[in-house]
Amino acid sequence: MSSRSDAVVPFTRRHIGPSPEQQRTMLAQVGYDSAQALLEAAIPDSIRLHTPLDLPSAVTEEAAQAELRAMAAGNRVMRQMIGLGYYGTHTPAVIRRNVLENPAWYTAYTPYQPEISQGRLEALLNFQTMVSDLTGLPVAGASLLDEATAAAEAMTLARRAGKSKSPVFVVDSDTLPQTLAVLRTRAEPLGISLVTVDVTAPDLPEEFFGALLSNPSAGGAVRDHTALIEEAHRRGALVAVAVDLLSLLLVRSPGDMGADIAVGSAQRFGVPMGFGGPHAGFMSVRSGLERSLPGRLVGVSKDAQGRRAYRLALQTREQHIRRERATSNICTAQVLLAVMASCYAVYHGPDGLRGIASRVHAQAARLARGLRAGGVEPLHGDFFDTVTVRVPGRAESVVSAAVALGVNLRLVDADHVAVACDETTTESDLSAVWRAFGVESVPVRSETGFSAGLARADEYLTHPVFHEHRSETSMLRYLRRLADVDFALDRGMIPLGSCTMKLNAAAEMEPVSWPQFAHIHPFAPADQVRGYARLIADLEAWLAEVTGYDAVSLQPNAGSQGELAGLLAIRAYLAATGAGDRDVCLIPSSAHGTNAASAVMAGMRVVVVACDEEGNVDLDDLDAKIAQHADRLAAIMVTYPSTHGVYESEITRLCAKVHDAGGQVYVDGANLNALLGFAKPGRFGADVSHLNLHKTFCIPHGGGGPGIGPVAVRSHLAEYLPSDPRVADAPVGPVAAAPYGSAGILPIPWMYLRMMGGRGLAEATAQAVLAANYVASRLAEHYPVLYSGNKGLVAHECILDLRALTKRSGVTVDDVAKRLMDYGFHAPTMSFPVAGTLMVEPTESEDLTELDRFCDAMIAIRGEIDKVAAGEWPVEDSPLRNAPHTADVLAAEDWSHPYSRREAVFPAGAAAAKYWPPVGRIDGAYGDRNLACSCPPPEAFGS
Ligand SMILES: *Cc1c(COP(=O)(O)O)cnc(C)c1O
Repeated sequence: MSSRSDAVVPFTRRHIGPSPEQQRTMLAQVGYDSAQALLEAAIPDSIRLHTPLDLPSAVTEEAAQAELRAMAAGNRVMRQMIGLGYYGTHTPAVIRRNVLENPAWYTAYTPYQPEISQGRLEALLNFQTMVSDLTGLPVAGASLLDEATAAAEAMTLARRAGKSKSPVFVVDSDTLPQTLAVLRTRAEPLGISLVTVDVTAPDLPEEFFGALLSNPSAGGAVRDHTALIEEAHRRGALVAVAVDLLSLLLVRSPGDMGADIAVGSAQRFGVPMGFGGPHAGFMSVRSGLERSLPGRLVGVSKDAQGRRAYRLALQTREQHIRRERATSNICTAQVLLAVMASCYAVYHGPDGLRGIASRVHAQAARLARGLRAGGVEPLHGDFFDTVTVRVPGRAESVVSAAVALGVNLRLVDADHVAVACDETTTESDLSAVWRAFGVESVPVRSETGFSAGLARADEYLTHPVFHEHRSETSMLRYLRRLADVDFALDRGMIPLGSCTMKLNAAAEMEPVSWPQFAHIHPFAPADQVRGYARLIADLEAWLAEVTGYDAVSLQPNAGSQGELAGLLAIRAYLAATGAGDRDVCLIPSSAHGTNAASAVMAGMRVVVVACDEEGNVDLDDLDAKIAQHADRLAAIMVTYPSTHGVYESEITRLCAKVHDAGGQVYVDGANLNALLGFAKPGRFGADVSHLNLHKTFCIPHGGGGPGIGPVAVRSHLAEYLPSDPRVADAPVGPVAAAPYGSAGILPIPWMYLRMMGGRGLAEATAQAVLAANYVASRLAEHYPVLYSGNKGLVAHECILDLRALTKRSGVTVDDVAKRLMDYGFHAPTMSFPVAGTLMVEPTESEDLTELDRFCDAMIAIRGEIDKVAAGEWPVEDSPLRNAPHTADVLAAEDWSHPYSRREAVFPAGAAAAKYWPPVGRIDGAYGDRNLACSCPPPEAFGS
């Protein structure tokens, strides 16, 4: 006999916030009998699905994990000595448990609201300081997507910042092959020609705008590039060097050798390999280039009380603002991984890191000595951790002998094998390698060190933060202190429009730490990664099913990279069909900034299409633009539902118009949370989309990354999806370093889909749309809702228009956003896609209590705005303008404001769990004028 109480609660009930009863209350507010009826009214008939999604039916958390565990068992955890930019590393348990596995860190959003993001901003500043110190270059950014894309960004930086007009970019022929492959992909549409050069006998072109050198090289050679860099400078080029962070503890820095730019990956600083990612790529530059850095940059500024405070610097460089003039499309980066890497440096400190580097180097030296004694000669005299040897005709048999002993080596070619040591390498690993080579001798000791002029002599990581947390207690408390000042989903709702800050369930997150997923090298042989192959095949099939496309690539490691991959597919398809001169990309004025930036990177010209008063793409203007560019039309990029948060009923006509004119249709899938289970972009007229697995499919935002931006296409574009970096002559090359990008976090969307099933996904969509309409309906009389579509309904988000209120009262969207912090909320998306507005996306995961708490706060704030408008409070001394209020301000001896202390910090009555912003309103302009992007000396914190 079964009763209600012993039935297993399905995961959908855990994922979807509102209870059935709360849902009924919400439906009543919106005026519909059922969520189904609401969705039928909101979504245009022309695109609505009439069959359920064909996905395996949902299972419980436990059953899904059991299935995944069985799958993970198909991956073989080996001793990974392949190298090539991916190394074994020990993640200190205190960091794994308190950062990687801690929702206070992983559920945070990008720190655009710096007052409630001081913890992760500090950790990122540590990252920047660490990268800057180790590379010997003064300014480092807060992470890029991986080493290969960082190298591509360095190439384009050199082109725009350098003086040379040459289209030639020189690349060290001993560069990581995946980096070279990504450089090729990125160079071609921009008209850059790559010339590879052997740096041991450099035959440099007469003129070139930039160069990428490697140190150590892919084969492991450590070199002094000073003379080569000088020569390149004489020819008018800027020089970037791809470096290994750990080697820089011992080897002279690229800055010291005169380089302009350094790039690399911080993976081996405590971040597991994860079959290729996610890891933090990095870039640092010499002074003079800081304003050209791609990606985000954390800087130091001050708050309203004059205290030091961190925030993102130079935000005017972001693609949102620069659009087609943007120099890079990077948006989501790798914050969580950068935080982990910086914590690794904080915990070990310079001495600890030097110890690790020295051990790794000593092991490589012993390995080389043993091989040499056995008659196997290393290629390079100076190396750090990687030894490449010549074994004529024997390379394959050596590599398979090593595999039989549990060790993966790198097969360079038929005659060469490379072996990389790392922090996890043991004595028995070295013995296994010697045995694989058929070498018997085991040397006791060996010479370490480098030729004259290569060893590092200068100091680094001198800031106290790298010296103060050597005990685990101290580290634990440091991490807790940083997490405590931040606002993430573990505290409350983050209603950011376009960002879909939904639940990141613990059951989805746990498998990320399983060794069978974490400790797999991206270039491990196929028979060792059968588990990953299944995981990837499942996800590709499921994502194709839910989007209506025919093929999916999981390689892009952010939405922006998915956009680029999709546009490159269109470009290659057009070229293959004799339409290679089509290069115009139409983009509506409401588009996300990455769209235009990606189009430019794909070699396209951006033409903006206007939107009408209802927020729809203006079809008359579309007709005009199509007519104007008829023969040159390549594509249109539209977001659906639009960034205005409405389902445009004319979407199918729009697609048809572009197709009739010979163009392709790109639908930006960031808003898929409004469609899953109800409509499929691949069926309503689009040719290609990217999805954001870090929005719709539950990968947490990590404070600004990681993400995954798969690209999905109809069959005619399938052969132009990004290729495996190991494959030569693919029609389109790779857009990321690893074949499956950030594969290590694919278990998260797999778990989500497995636990939700097709019906659960549709339920989540319905609930997300209901929540947005509920918020819109409750707030409409207090703030005009800017756009609504069919029957006055919004999709999964709504835009609140503050412009009239601002005009009347002087209170800005900024004031409202900061005041929400006093009420214990993260602000909605500000001024996107329309300046002077707030875009609210509640998602399906927030229950009615939290939705009401937010609506009540917004209504109370409206009351405060009215007081300002009525002259009761001067705007400059209102709780809105003075927000957020810190405990410090509250405790000050005098209080001269026209509102009470209580109104300042407990505006909605006493909150049970009051969130205290650690700093007051931050002055961004001050920080931009006085740019400082590494840890300030401690005395700077005295106030
Ligand atoms: C988030 C978003 C993107 C970019 O995705 P990233 O992963 O941050 O690169 C593109 N378009 C829209 C509409 C988005 O909301």
